Amino acid sequence: GRKISNRKATSVYKDDMHTFLKESMLSEMNLRKGLDLDEFELHFQPQVNCRTGEVVGFEALLRWRHPERGLIFPAEFIELAESTGLITPIGEWVIKEATQQIRKWQETGIDNISISINLSPRHFLHQTLPLYLEQCIAEARIGPDKVVLEITENVALEDQTAVISRIKLLKEMGYSISIDDFGKGYSAFIYLQHFPIHEIKIDREFISELGNDIKSTGIVQTIIHLAEMLGLRTIGEGVETKEQWDILKQLGCSDLQGYYFSRPLEVDVINGLFEEYGVAGKLLLPYTKDLT
Ligand code: C2E
Ligand code: MG
Ligand code: MG
Ligand code: MG
Repeated sequence: GRKISNRKATSVYKDDMHTFLKESMLSEMNLRKGLDLDEFELHFQPQVNCRTGEVVGFEALLRWRHPERGLIFPAEFIELAESTGLITPIGEWVIKEATQQIRKWQETGIDNISISINLSPRHFLHQTLPLYLEQCIAEARIGPDKVVLEITENVALEDQTAVISRIKLLKEMGYSISIDDFGKGYSAFIYLQHFPIHEIKIDREFISELGNDIKSTGIVQTIIHLAEMLGLRTIGEGVETKEQWDILKQLGCSDLQGYYFSRPLEVDVINGLFEEYGVAGKLLLPYTKDLT
């Protein structure tokens, strides 16, 4: 027969309910609502100069502060945002917020800080992006040199001619273009050959093996040499140990980002750090302060 135990029925029901709740929570409608209700926020992770440990910029990382579920990370909603097209309005919100933040920091005397913004391939190629950026920096009264636009290798899966001309245009407008998670995909070298970019962010997977695995060290060394030859800035992503920092310093990496220096922080926390550890508009994180 078709008899099933009560217990099993309950657990199946629970699983279904769980899936249902999860799915309904992360629906297009909820995402749109979250945006309209201003539930998104940016956290900022410091990027430090590899030699001195001085903070040179921040990467803006998106969070969704859901009234019931608490803080939701991009891994849970970026894909949905991309597939529904909501990534463009969300990305626009990020650009507006990030450029306004640069302005606020400048007003408190913190200059020479850039902010890196992650852009999905879809938004990067969106027709209105260049104009939108111009409006935001004009409104914030900041220069385009303060804005770094991060794209991933996935963008190479799109129409290459379109991608190249978009990079060229944004470069002419004064923005810097960065390739995020460099080395993770299969198209890394296409970028170096054809795309007029400014920096590459060496994927965390290589960085985490530094010191353990001679191959990873060789790969990172080669990437840094290649970047140097092409005049590109290099950022080591996901630096978690002093040993990784030491190796990257030896290899000549330009800048670093990772939990060893700091997790992504809320604006208030960063402002506090600036008050405590900032000198002449520059910031040395407490952790690195006595090392230089
Ligand atoms: P990403 O751009 O490569 O950002 C770096 C991610 O690595 C962040 O995760 C950051 O918190 C994390 N991370 C930084 N240092 C370390 C470390 O030392 N160890 C480890 N294990 N992780 C570290 P997060 O904030 O969860 O973001 C994940 C991804 O979501 C980002 O990867 C980016 O691809 C995407 N994302 C974040 N914000 C935005 C956004 O505003 N727009 C778009 N389109 N994508 C975004
Ligand atoms: Mg990024
Ligand atoms: Mg990424
Ligand atoms: Mg990355």
